[in-house]
Amino acid sequence: MKLSRIYLLFAFVVCFFSRQILAAPLPVVTSFSILGDVTQQIGGQRVKVQTLVGPDQDAHIYQLSSKDLRLMRQSKLILLNGLGFESLPLQRAAQQSHVPVYEVTKGIKPIDMHTDHDHNHDHDHDHSHDHSHDHSHDHDHHHAIDPHVWNDPVLMQTYAQNVADALIQVDPAGKAYYQQRLSQYQQQLQQLNQWASNIFARIPAANRKVLTGHDAFGYLAQRYHIEFLAPQGVSTEAEPSARQVAAIISQIREQHIKAVFTENIKDPRMVKRIADETGVHISGHLYSDALSRDQSAATYIDMFRYNVNALSRAMQ
Ligand SMILES: [Zn+2]
Repeated sequence: MKLSRIYLLFAFVVCFFSRQILAAPLPVVTSFSILGDVTQQIGGQRVKVQTLVGPDQDAHIYQLSSKDLRLMRQSKLILLNGLGFESLPLQRAAQQSHVPVYEVTKGIKPIDMHTDHDHNHDHDHDHSHDHSHDHSHDHDHHHAIDPHVWNDPVLMQTYAQNVADALIQVDPAGKAYYQQRLSQYQQQLQQLNQWASNIFARIPAANRKVLTGHDAFGYLAQRYHIEFLAPQGVSTEAEPSARQVAAIISQIREQHIKAVFTENIKDPRMVKRIADETGVHISGHLYSDALSRDQSAATYIDMFRYNVNALSRAMQ
């Protein structure tokens, strides 16, 4: 009898500890691949990250699927970029899922395109007149505030902190684990910024001008004093007008801009047409709003390094 009690106790102890060790990872849904990577870096083995808008995909024009809705409902936490980056249907679906939703740009002062970026002011202004008949209410959201915060590794420290805070809220038992991984990641982000600052510091100020397809690099521009031109605004939703394209073409000619990039998430035809008309060679592509399917931008840090290297080569 005594022996069976010991067996019972033993069985209980084994069960208890194996449950602790084999506890299922926390299912977390992230809206796009860059945020998915940051969440994986901080969440480590305690999380299972599912990302809605995958590598090389464009979140601005993403169509939500029924699988996405199911993933959101089955998760314990939904992380969004915020600042109008996610489409309204995605934002609504997240809110209606009854799962905690966090926007990881919380506390970051966004670039307001109508006041801070005068070279974009004209585009956006014209645009709101040209297309005021279609989706006019979400319009200001999408076009006034720049959501591409990840293109500044300094702001990414706040972003990463917000990811960690959200994970701790939902999984307080993992607090020490998340905090430790966060502080390692913060260090990597600091090194990334230091490295990028050193590289860009060697580029003469007059050469720091770049053309891309849409305005995804406002935060990089602000941090490292580079001017980015783009036929499209901060969203890829609306096509640029012929007048906007003509203005960009004359600017490239007048200022002898030679750094011209397509983007991994976008049809390259517009940039190719501008390059053809100005006789400028395309310098390559940049990873603007998504990681890559291949290894060149498999993580956020890889992506940022790739972009800095490509930009500095083209601006020499
Ligand atoms: Zn974008």
